[in-house]
Amino acid sequence: DAKRAGRGVTRLFDEGMDEGIRFRRRVEQGLAEAIDKGELSLVYQPIVSRGELEVIGFEALVRWNTEEYGPISPATFIPIAEESNVIHELGDWILDSALAMVQRFPDQYVSVNFSPRQFRRSNFVGHIMESVQRAGVLPSRVQIEITETAIFDDAERAAETLYKLRQMGFRIALDDFGTGYSSLYNIRKFALDSLKIDRSFIDGMGRERESAAIVHSIIHLGRALGLEVIAEGVETAAQVQALRLAGASHMQGYFFSRPVTPELAIELAVQRFLGGDLNEEQAGTGT
Ligand code: C2E
Ligand code: MG
Ligand code: MG
Ligand code: MG
Repeated sequence: DAKRAGRGVTRLFDEGMDEGIRFRRRVEQGLAEAIDKGELSLVYQPIVSRGELEVIGFEALVRWNTEEYGPISPATFIPIAEESNVIHELGDWILDSALAMVQRFPDQYVSVNFSPRQFRRSNFVGHIMESVQRAGVLPSRVQIEITETAIFDDAERAAETLYKLRQMGFRIALDDFGTGYSSLYNIRKFALDSLKIDRSFIDGMGRERESAAIVHSIIHLGRALGLEVIAEGVETAAQVQALRLAGASHMQGYFFSRPVTPELAIELAVQRFLGGDLNEEQAGTGT
């Protein structure tokens, strides 16, 4: 009986795997065609200053609307693309689209996510420089977002790449900070402009002492190293207040705005200040 049950489990497991593998293959093939089919788009989420809630930049976030499965989240397809060379074609399209967009903002920067494989591509620096030159965009209008995994596997080479990019005038942000394996001691070796606190910590801030402590530590660390600290995933007025008190430099999250279409992003960029809601709430609490 146990044997038979075991076989059943194995078969189920195999079928599950097959389906998983089939899905990955479809995604990989689909992505290769997605650009030509016009299935990809970028949305933009404002990044605001802590004080006046001035829109200082936008993070570009990719969206994929497939024929077969409908919209698929980047959290699903980026890791699949990352395992093959499709990530390069996809990444080039994302960068070029974001560069075309930033020229339509009065003076905000655009923040672009790069996966570890893109970052480690040979001549990444030359490639990105060529793209901005072709687009006629100043590097200072571009923030490069990378994760801890991208830089800590080959720290020496990564440090050199970041140094060059920063010399050229790009901004560098370390994304999802706190979730990776970075040694705090090593952080100082990298040419960075900002740390982005992962939204899981912001989410936990009001509930768990641990999350609040981590948020405070990251902000202190950032300030001690002369870095900006951007809090991501800010959803409530209470989080805004707590982050202001803690000394976060910038904030991003649904509280201010969801990622929006290019047209709306330009409106927000021109309008420049967000946070009418926050001011009302503050007035309401009488603080
Ligand atoms: P990320 O770079 O950490 O991006 C932030 C994610 O948090 C985005 O999810 C954004 O929509 C979401 N978010 C922003 N504010 C809030 C909030 O207040 N509450 C909650 N619950 N979520 C919020 P999204 O767009 O689904 O992207 C997921 C991840 O996929 C990104 O995480 C990034 O790692 C990756 N990704 C997205 N676009 C690109 C891209 O163009 N290139 C690369 N390489 N990766 C990308
Ligand atoms: Mg990001
Ligand atoms: Mg992030
Ligand atoms: Mg994240």
